[in-house]
Amino acid sequence: MKLILLGAPGAGKGTVAKLLTAIDGSVQISTGDILRAAVKAGSDLGKQAKAFMDAGDLVPDELIMNIMKDRLREDDCKAGYLLDGFPRTIPQAEQLKVLLEEIGEKLDAVVSLEVPRDVILDRLTTRRTCTDCGAIYNVKSNPTKEEGKCDKCGGPVVQRDDETEEAISNRLDVYNEKTAPLAGFYKNEGMLMEVVATSSDAVVDAIKEKVGL
Ligand code: AMP
Repeated sequence: MKLILLGAPGAGKGTVAKLLTAIDGSVQISTGDILRAAVKAGSDLGKQAKAFMDAGDLVPDELIMNIMKDRLREDDCKAGYLLDGFPRTIPQAEQLKVLLEEIGEKLDAVVSLEVPRDVILDRLTTRRTCTDCGAIYNVKSNPTKEEGKCDKCGGPVVQRDDETEEAISNRLDVYNEKTAPLAGFYKNEGMLMEVVATSSDAVVDAIKEKVGL
């Protein structure tokens, strides 16, 4: 399947994407993960992106589009893809539309995960991430067995630099200003599916029904 997952930071896009990849081999493409890997590797892209990311601001559209123009042409995308955290602005959505036309592809749907702001704030401030393998934990609902150590790979599990209360509050403001308008954009295109995202399993079931799986 080929989907865009829309939703505020912490709405569960990554979790839903991971569940969907197991269904039909579609790949999860998270621009946030790609950027974090670039920062960790110290590449040019990482150097250009880091300050924006730490502040909870968006990375410039041009950098993101350069990543996605290459990424969507890779072989593993033939099985389908779940775009997680992209597009994030109207110009990105417009350029994605052109890119998809160029490569002759059509999305199945744009799924918007709707979660109340207080739930999101609580989720994000308690979220912890393994810096080695990217596994996600939560200090309240899903803690690591040993504090600060990943159950899967033993790597360090930390609070992301952009998950301090200040950065989160900025990320949510940026979301409301720059990304929330995408729902209207895709509604006009007749592609929007809104789902109340109380549980990831319920979201996955709704998507399966929509795409006929
Ligand atoms: P995420 O993990 O999706 O919340 O992304 C983490 C950070 O990476 C964001 O706060 C932005 O700084 C940056 N980022 C990720 N995806 C995009 C995008 N599509 N456009 C601009 N910035 C992005």
